[in-house]
Amino acid sequence: MGELVQALGVPARFRGFVAERTDDRVETGIRELSQEDLADEAVTVRVAWSSVNYKDGLACSPHGRVARISPLVPGIDLAGEVVASTSPRFRAGDLVVAHGYEIGTSHHGGFAEYARLPDEWVVPLPQGLSTREAIAIGTAGFTAALSVHQLESRGLEPVDGPILVTGASGGVGSTAVAILAARGYEVVASTGKEAAREWLRELGAARVLGREEIAAGPERPLGREEWAAAVDCVGGSTLAGVLGLLRYGGAVAACGLTGGRELSTTVLPFILRGVALLGTDSVQCPLDLRTELWGRIAGDLRPRKLERIVASEIELEDLEPSLAAILRGEIRGRTLVRCS
Ligand code: NDP
Repeated sequence: MGELVQALGVPARFRGFVAERTDDRVETGIRELSQEDLADEAVTVRVAWSSVNYKDGLACSPHGRVARISPLVPGIDLAGEVVASTSPRFRAGDLVVAHGYEIGTSHHGGFAEYARLPDEWVVPLPQGLSTREAIAIGTAGFTAALSVHQLESRGLEPVDGPILVTGASGGVGSTAVAILAARGYEVVASTGKEAAREWLRELGAARVLGREEIAAGPERPLGREEWAAAVDCVGGSTLAGVLGLLRYGGAVAACGLTGGRELSTTVLPFILRGVALLGTDSVQCPLDLRTELWGRIAGDLRPRKLERIVASEIELEDLEPSLAAILRGEIRGRTLVRCS
């Protein structure tokens, strides 16, 4: 590291990407940080990797309503090595992954060389996953795994029929396609990106549909019974359309709002087809389930062709264009950020 690492494992100075609100703008850039910038918490991590998520784009946008402190080190997920710990759960040298809670919103997050977190936010890296693989999955892949877990907890099996994934070229969507395909489901991917179609087939989609077709929905509140289940990353009219096309007893795990936060629909899919709308939240997902799912992500919920989901690896200096691009819906798969 070339610098004297002081008590608590952090050098006197280290680098971080900071977002600071000024009137109606958000200024972003690399700054030199020090120990005092980190919260007084139990687990200090040298961050190896973070990633670019839609919420990070919002945290750096003046209208994003995500950042709760200013200045903020964004980065809602991180993986790295513990360098100091006052928690009995962790020792220096442990590899860990952390995401959600207040990370990158009201507590400094992953876009820095170091982070310090409460121990109940930190998950030991399961056997079989490197820090890079953990962050290739990251918040997005964890949310995809949680969605699959929710659907299967209601009894969903591959024999039940096709599963629709909306916003399929994004981080959550592409990982959901790859996890479901690895588990033997017939996956139908919906995307607005013509150029992503072949890639989605490679990840395991049996068919690829256009985004507009799904967003238009059925002409009447209930359409043909098409999908046994769905993972919806888009919300808005897309989610409303999906509800009207679920098979009897089907369910949609809804996690996202890239297509809008409003939901205008009728009760008919619920009361005539017994379908379920499963709210999917990774942020406050309890530690027990979080730890269990990370163990499964290293095993039976591992996405197929994980390396193909990685769109690019960038440095902290390269964050600005990626954060803008994800808000424009232009990013395909996962963008990894090398932090130290
Ligand atoms: P990405 O930007 O990587 O993916 C979102 C995808 O949505 C895009 O790739 C695009 O897919 C589609 N999309 C973008 N803009 C529009 C639009 N205007 N109308 C319809 N579709 C659009 O984001 P993430 O995968 O990181 O996150 C997806 C969503 O899930 C976000 O809303 C995010 O906030 C949310 N999220 C929620 C979590 C939770 O715990 N509930 C955790 C993680 C994410 P395509 O071009 O293929 O159609």
